Amino acid sequence: MKPHQYRPETEAVRGGTDLGRKNGPLATPIYQTSTFESADVAAAIECSSSDTFYTRYGNPTVSVAEGAIAELEGADRALLFASGMGAVTTAVMALVKSGDHIVAQRDIYGGTTKFLSAWLPKLGVETTFVDSNEFGEYARAMRPTTRLLYLESPTNPTLKIVDLHKAVALAKQHDLITMIDSTFATPINQRPIEFGVDLVIHSGTKYFGGHSDLICGVLAGRLDLIERIHDTRTTLGVVMDPHAAWLLLRGIKTLAVRVQRQNENALRIARFLSGHAGVRQVYYPFLESHSQYELAVKQMRGGGGMLSFEMEGSADDARRLVESLRLFTLAVSLGGVDSLVTLPRYSSHAMISEEQRKKMGVSDGLIRVSVGIENADDLIADLGQAFAAVSSCRHHAHVG
Ligand SMILES: *Cc1c(COP(=O)(O)O)cnc(C)c1O
Repeated sequence: MKPHQYRPETEAVRGGTDLGRKNGPLATPIYQTSTFESADVAAAIECSSSDTFYTRYGNPTVSVAEGAIAELEGADRALLFASGMGAVTTAVMALVKSGDHIVAQRDIYGGTTKFLSAWLPKLGVETTFVDSNEFGEYARAMRPTTRLLYLESPTNPTLKIVDLHKAVALAKQHDLITMIDSTFATPINQRPIEFGVDLVIHSGTKYFGGHSDLICGVLAGRLDLIERIHDTRTTLGVVMDPHAAWLLLRGIKTLAVRVQRQNENALRIARFLSGHAGVRQVYYPFLESHSQYELAVKQMRGGGGMLSFEMEGSADDARRLVESLRLFTLAVSLGGVDSLVTLPRYSSHAMISEEQRKKMGVSDGLIRVSVGIENADDLIADLGQAFAAVSSCRHHAHVG
C-alpha cells in the first residue's frame, strides 16, 4: 500500500507523469515500437529488465498508464494486460501451482467462473465456490492447500456487496492471498487495497477506458506479487499494445468526472425505477432499499454506474422494453460514456444453467443497465416512454 499524495480527481489527470520534467510533450507519446536500440552491449544487458528492451516485457507508454493506475489504487505497482480476462488468468496462474486450492464467490464474472471451473482443474488446481455473503460457507471451504481467496464486489448483475473487512480478516487467518475484481466500482468509488486486499483486478475495457473503444486488463497491488505476475505476463505474452495504452491513458484522465456523473445518473434512475409501478425490484447499492445499503455506503464512495431491475410482467415484456429504448443501446459490456442495456439471461449469463441462474437471482426478465454520462432527465424520459410502449402493446394484445 502506498500513501496518496493527491485526491482521486488529481491522480486521474496527473497520475503516472513526471510533473518536474520541463520541455517534454504534455501528452504521453505513443512508443509504437516492438524493440529498442541499445548503444552498446552493456546497455542492452542493463535494459533487459526495463520498459525499453522489448515491448512484450514492457513499453514506456504502457508504463505511464500503469503508474497512473497504481496511484489511483494506492498500490505499490500496477500492470496492464491485453484484456480483463488476460489479467485474471495470468495473475491466478502466477500465484498457484498443481495441488493448490482456491475459494471464490459463486457469482463472479462468467469468464472467470469458466477459467476457475473448466481450465484450472486441467492444471491440478481446484476451486470451491461459495455464496458471496455467507462467511460460514467461506470458512468451511478452506483447506490446508487453499492459497487464494478470489472476490468480486459489487457483483454482476444483482449488485451484491462483499464485506471487504470480513473477507480480508478471514483470508489473513488462513494465510491466503486476496484478489478482487473491482471493475464495477472503479478506484473512484472503492479502493480495496485500503481494506488490506493484496491484488485488485479490473476489466480496463469498462470504466478505465470509458469510451467502449478498447480492450484491456488492469492489475494493481503488492510489489512481490506483482513482480511474479509481471514475469508470467512476459511468458504468456498477454501484454497491452502501446497504442491501446495511450487511448487508455486518455480515458483515465476523465475517469473521476465520468464516474461521478455516472454515480449521480444511476442513483436518479434507480430512484425513478423504484417508484415506477411497472417495476418489481431494483438492484442498486446506494438505494436505501438495497439489502446491503449500510455496508455499501461504508465501503464505497459512490454507488457506481451499474444497476439492474426486474419489471412486472413476462420475460417477453422485458424484451419489448429493451427494444423500445432509444437512448440505451442494446449491447454487452459496460462502463462507457454511452448508456447500454442488456438482458443477462441472453448475454453474460446465457451459458449458465437455469438452476444456477435462479440461485444467482438472474430471472429471465432481469434487465441490466450501464448508465452513461448523458443527461439524466433524458435517460429517465426514455425509460418512461419504453414502459408506456410495453403497456400499450400489452393492452392491444388484450383487446386484440
Ligand atoms: C468485462 C469484465 C471482465 C472481463 O474483461 P475483458 O476486458 O472483457 O476481458 C471481468 N470482470 C468483470 C466484472 C467484467 O465486467
